[in-house]
Amino acid sequence: MSKLLLVAFSASEAPLGVGFAKALGFPFDILCFGEAPSADLGAELIKVVAITELPPADAIARIIAGQANGYTTLASASSMHAKDAMARVAGVLDAAMVTDVVEVVSPTEFKRPIVAGSVLATVEVLASPLVATFRPSAFRSTNRSGNSPVETLTVDLTSKVERISHSKRGGARPDLSQARVVVSGGRPLKDASTFETIIGGLADALGGAAGATRAAVDSGIAANELQVGQTGKIVAPNLYIAAGISGSTQHMAGIKDSKIIVAINKDADAPIFEFADYGIVADLFDAVPELTRLVKS
Ligand SMILES: Cc1cc2nc3c(=O)[nH]c(=O)nc-3n(C[C@H](O)[C@H](O)[C@H](O)COP(=O)(O)OP(=O)(O)OC[C@H]3O[C@@H](n4cnc5c(N)ncnc54)[C@H](O)[C@@H]3O)c2cc1C
Repeated sequence: MSKLLLVAFSASEAPLGVGFAKALGFPFDILCFGEAPSADLGAELIKVVAITELPPADAIARIIAGQANGYTTLASASSMHAKDAMARVAGVLDAAMVTDVVEVVSPTEFKRPIVAGSVLATVEVLASPLVATFRPSAFRSTNRSGNSPVETLTVDLTSKVERISHSKRGGARPDLSQARVVVSGGRPLKDASTFETIIGGLADALGGAAGATRAAVDSGIAANELQVGQTGKIVAPNLYIAAGISGSTQHMAGIKDSKIIVAINKDADAPIFEFADYGIVADLFDAVPELTRLVKS
């Protein structure tokens, strides 16, 4: 019988998979790292790995692969943790993998974006088990009923990886992939402290997340985990504000599901204005602090 194991790397991620599970049409269990999620998600069983901090990806993959027996599909929302761990799970299980699913055509056929999101490919996977990641923004979360039993797993957390340091900037801001508002900055932000003041300031005033282009990340202006785009995070907020961002294909691939895009650029011919719903031709060092002031007032 076909069955899905939904993997959630935190309790807040668990509900994101319910729409995917419904589209797939299989009964499902949830394997959740961290705290137990709501028991009302429609899963037959919720397995919890009760930890306060995720171990390195080799340990996570081993734990997930160790739970694979009896499942025809193992899936998680596309995220940095998923990129790190789910490919390893497929490796450990010698399983087929399909990433970034945006539509389930049938239990063996999936649509996924390729060529920086400009083409949708339909892929057929006949192998079992299948390891998949899906874009949560493409699957509506639906209300489910039921009260799933919760089982706490005892697992081996040892890893061959030694974590030398761990840094996270952005404090208490919402997770980029799930934020309703994202304020992003590009190369002109100069340095990390200017980025934090200008971009972080507006993000905080709006209760949103801060994001960045790869150029900003590569220049040390913004932390790696803030990169939005083809090789960064895919976002789908209600409001995306792009300040000092040219609008490269690779950046736009990560933001095209945003409901409203506002671009602030001093060059009226910048490509981003072709995609933006609203455009402000201005110096971001004037416009963004002014917006922050207006939001706060
Ligand atoms: C394989 C590959 C993958 C990539 N993946 C990604 C990805 O995931 N995400 C990503 O973002 N990029 C990615 N890139 C890089 C991408 O091609 C661009 O180089 C990058 O997005 C440009 O970043 P930017 O817009 O910050 O910089 P720029 O292209 O330098 O643009 C800066 C913009 O700021 C404007 N500006 C300058 N000063 C001001 C000011 N004071 N006020 C207002 N506007 C101002 C300029 O007019 C310009 O439009 C990838 C590239 C490759 C080859």
